[in-house]
Amino acid sequence: MAAVGAVSRALAELHARLATVDEGAVADYIPQLALADPATFGLALASMDGHRYAAGDALVPFTIQSVSKPFVYALALAGLGLDAVTARVGAEPSGEGFNAISLEPGTGRPANPMINAGAIVTTSLIPASGPAERFDRILTCLSAFAGRPLDVDEAVYASESRTGDRNRALAYLMRGAGSLTEDVEEVVDVYFRQCAVRVTTADLAVMAATLANGGVNPVTGEPVVPELTAERVLAVMATSGMYDAAGDWLLRVGLPAKGGVSGALIACSPARFGIAAYSPPLDAVGNPVRGVLALRELSERYALHLMHHPGTAPVTAAWDMHGEAVALVIAQGPLEFTATERLLSMLAEAVAPLPAAGGVVLDLDRVSRVDRASAAMAREELTALRRRGLTVAAVGEAGAAVLDDPDHVFATRERALAWCEQQVGASEPPDGQQQTGASPPDNRHW
Ligand code: GLU
Repeated sequence: MAAVGAVSRALAELHARLATVDEGAVADYIPQLALADPATFGLALASMDGHRYAAGDALVPFTIQSVSKPFVYALALAGLGLDAVTARVGAEPSGEGFNAISLEPGTGRPANPMINAGAIVTTSLIPASGPAERFDRILTCLSAFAGRPLDVDEAVYASESRTGDRNRALAYLMRGAGSLTEDVEEVVDVYFRQCAVRVTTADLAVMAATLANGGVNPVTGEPVVPELTAERVLAVMATSGMYDAAGDWLLRVGLPAKGGVSGALIACSPARFGIAAYSPPLDAVGNPVRGVLALRELSERYALHLMHHPGTAPVTAAWDMHGEAVALVIAQGPLEFTATERLLSMLAEAVAPLPAAGGVVLDLDRVSRVDRASAAMAREELTALRRRGLTVAAVGEAGAAVLDDPDHVFATRERALAWCEQQVGASEPPDGQQQTGASPPDNRHW
């Protein structure tokens, strides 16, 4: 599917601006991670329709680290059910660092699956006959989320295995308290391997999009985990995904997210998209500086906060040719980020078959609301089409909001089409093929 220029440009612009941010420090407690280039910076977004967008170093590989935790939690939930998993790992934000000894007094149950203690127990819960099979199941699951076979960065794995005594200590404490029942060395080894799985920012965007899409990978179409599982994972990410900055994150960004010490960050906008950032320098809490800034800005600009009023109804859009040289694109409902992304993808599809001097009519008469960022996205796209030599007309009040030239905005679809046809000198289509504005083709919903 066509990727929308406006979304790519928004990511590229954000990337260019944030690339100059020079704060934070690359994690060095795992010696191999210290070798990461602090300048590497990738951004990627995958929509529910499987459209993919990227900026910067989105194809540079790195280790997934803690961003593996929500996906392995999903695997545990899908296999064992919520009650069996929460009996062993809680769902309360710990308010502490990622490697804190955050165990429930009495039971030794770790606070949540997003911190190391909880993640180690979660890994131990994956049903398997031994550690090799357990890791195999985890790798298969992570690969299904990504939509391609992933592998392990052996150097990072070996480096963490040599130095990961704090995680071993945590595991021994939990084993002593009875909350970890498997062999400590074996479980920790699987956990280290899981953290060393190699991904790119583009992979992580698809993985996040799969969670946002009810557990179905939007690119491959594969159902990876049940919808209810995906929903529950998002809930725990929302409360505990960002270490002890989880509250501030929910306040400012308002999206389920997970960061990791390699500099990876994912965020999920349910039913909209998954987004990922990779940039190694971390803030004092352990979250990647540039990734956090990127998400804050995107959330604010496109009104992505979970608590944001969603409007009244989803946008629907359709397009068709009107003769040979004019395309007609129609939308209805409120235009926010996702609806606009979808509409602009459709617009890209609609103009593809047009001749160089063709025309397009964008009928937004039934669009109930356009937020400012969406209007800007659409305006940018229409300006680009006009620069390419296409004639562009819009219909309705929302049409006026997205087209710079008021002379090309019309009150009715018929007038816009007539004007557009006149401009491009389109010949009448043969009898029987003409679709008039008054009788839209069958595939439209109105
Ligand atoms: N492998 C890392 C550890 O356990 C992951 C930590 C993280 O990314 O937060 O220390």
